[in-house]
Amino acid sequence: MKIHHLDCGRMATIFPRIVLGAVGPSLRHMVCHCLLIETPRDGLVLVDTGYGTDQLAQPRVQLGRLFLSVARPDLNPAATAIARIRALGHDPADVRHIVLTHLDVDHAGGLPDFPAAQVHVMAREREAALAARGRHRMRYRPESWAHQPRWHLHADPAGERWLGFDAVRPLPGVDPDLLLVPLAGHSPGHCGVAVRGQDDRWRLHAGDAYFHRATVAPDGDRPPLGLRIFEAFTQTTASLRRRNQQRLRTLASEHPDQVAVFCAHDTVELHRFQPGGEFSQILR
Ligand SMILES: [Zn+2]
Repeated sequence: MKIHHLDCGRMATIFPRIVLGAVGPSLRHMVCHCLLIETPRDGLVLVDTGYGTDQLAQPRVQLGRLFLSVARPDLNPAATAIARIRALGHDPADVRHIVLTHLDVDHAGGLPDFPAAQVHVMAREREAALAARGRHRMRYRPESWAHQPRWHLHADPAGERWLGFDAVRPLPGVDPDLLLVPLAGHSPGHCGVAVRGQDDRWRLHAGDAYFHRATVAPDGDRPPLGLRIFEAFTQTTASLRRRNQQRLRTLASEHPDQVAVFCAHDTVELHRFQPGGEFSQILR
């Protein structure tokens, strides 16, 4: 089994110095960190999709002007998951399962590029997405599921535990050790996705449970002001978000040999897993 760490949607963001802090020009953007997992018997599993081909071809219609002016996504279709998968030499039709941290536009926008895949998400997240009103319609875009994907909805955990967290095993019978780890707060059914690599070490894709590496770092530094404002603006339940961030920080500091924690949009965290990065030796 091999795990690829892909960027499926670069975002320049509005006011990058305030949002991202004092970083060099090469880090002055956000990424959409997705995982492509090659399984021995069950094809490819994609964790989050980033932006999709249709969204980038019709950004004003599918993303909206306000979102475009705040997130400022790169509209190059070469950055979509489907293009990244082709570039790795795989057939996108081999993506049999898509596992989503949540249904925000920058995580589920690529679903129409994989119409045959089974889409795994927490039931309460889809419920929230379908019922979205007001400003939440900016985050949950019905174009992402207008093709009526093959949903596989998962109920709240019923007993399975993973390193102190409740967990759901969404793909029974599929080879990789892969778990949904509910981390609500950013959205009602938001979850992390834990995957165990061949080196026996877990990676926890924490989605948008946090946005900046400082949140889970042991030294307790605070993320840049702009990101803290953004987190507060996009959350649905502040107390749950803060509690889950504390739990993730504890997890990262108590089990550094067992699990590597990362979020969806931190450029430095993605670089750690890509070839040449700090964790590149455990990609396989
Ligand atoms: Zn996001």
